[in-house]
Amino acid sequence: MSKIIAIANQKGGVGKTTTSVNLGAGLATLGKRVLLVDIDPQGNTTSGVGINKADVENCIYNILIDEIAPHEAILETKIDGLNIIPATIQLAGAEIELVSTISRELRLKKALGLVKQQYDYIIIDCPPSLGILTINSLTAADSVIIPIQCEYYALEGLSQLLNTVRLVQKNLNPHLRIEGVLLTMLDARTNLGIQVIEEVKKYFQEKVYRTIIPRNIRLSEAPSHGQSIITYDPRSKGAEVYTELAKEVVSYE
Ligand code: ADP
Ligand code: MG
Repeated sequence: MSKIIAIANQKGGVGKTTTSVNLGAGLATLGKRVLLVDIDPQGNTTSGVGINKADVENCIYNILIDEIAPHEAILETKIDGLNIIPATIQLAGAEIELVSTISRELRLKKALGLVKQQYDYIIIDCPPSLGILTINSLTAADSVIIPIQCEYYALEGLSQLLNTVRLVQKNLNPHLRIEGVLLTMLDARTNLGIQVIEEVKKYFQEKVYRTIIPRNIRLSEAPSHGQSIITYDPRSKGAEVYTELAKEVVSYE
């Protein structure tokens, strides 16, 4: 079985990239074949798994715009079983260039269809917007994971995201479902975090993952070393919770 999961939330800084890299690494460590797809022009997932963007020959831009075959852009990472389609700043132009192309919403779906059977999980790290790149991701995906930061205004903007999911379901991808809602960056010392958890659970009910990601300094350090938390500090709380999340995701196969 193979599953394409988009990690989406148009808010920046909620943990999309951290979750993409570390859930991807966690799944690969469990023996799954995983492809990360970086579709954010910032390319943080790309550098987060140790790829030097200056050395990237083909990136997701060339797949979306030039329609190169996906295998021409797929790179291996230091983790066994974890591959990536990288993004570079070149992707920043794609949003505008795609506007005038035929079946612009379907480009990613078409490309990933060619490699889907080679992977157990394909994880797409979306940009912080609801533009054409996120629409491509939701159209290609079987399901979406929504990370929500345990902070003030946690639910702000969610109705636009859910509305976009519904529009994609109606017009482009009727199979799309919500895989799960992930609470991130919980500061256990504050009541605020607990309030947010309750609020999110009231809204999304059984869709909320049992695993909650706490704030963990090691998680924020790992990217500057080009590593997932699982290789950077396997004994950290961050590695423990993302491994737990990977197991939880697998349990819903
Ligand atoms: P997004 O991709 O949604 O913009 P990121 O995953 O890049 O969000 O996270 C935003 C910032 O917060 C990054 O600097 C990241 O290292 C840090 N961060 C993410 N999750 C955690 C966490 N659980 N604990 C501490 N820092 C985190
Ligand atoms: Mg990001």
